Amino acid sequence: MAMHDLDRSFFQEGFRLMARCPLCQTRYQPSAAKVIAEKEDAYLLHVPCVKCKSAVVALIFANMFGVNSVGILTDLASDEVLAKERQPVTADDVLALHEAIADGSFTII
Ligand SMILES: [Zn+2]
Repeated sequence: MAMHDLDRSFFQEGFRLMARCPLCQTRYQPSAAKVIAEKEDAYLLHVPCVKCKSAVVALIFANMFGVNSVGILTDLASDEVLAKERQPVTADDVLALHEAIADGSFTII
C-alpha cells in the first residue's frame, strides 16, 4: 500500500542516478536489474548492460541526505554473484558493502 509506493519511488530514484553504463553510455533497463539483497533503506542490485554485456553490482541506499547510488563494475553474471555467496546475502552484507564504499575501498562510478 503506501509503504509499497514509497519503496518503489526510492528504488526508481536510485536507479535513475545510475542510469547509464560507464563503459558505453547505454541506458540501463530497470527490468533487467536483479535485486540481490534488500533492506528497508538499501537495495543491492546486479545490472547488466544490454549493449556491451558489462555489468555493475550497484547499491542504492537512502540516508538523511536523500537517495544515493554507487556501482562497481563486475565480470560476474547475476547468478554467479549469487553462487559466490554460499549463503543468502543478508542486510549485514549490504551494510558492510555500504561501509566499504564509504571507506573508499571500492571505486565509485
Ligand atoms: Zn555498456
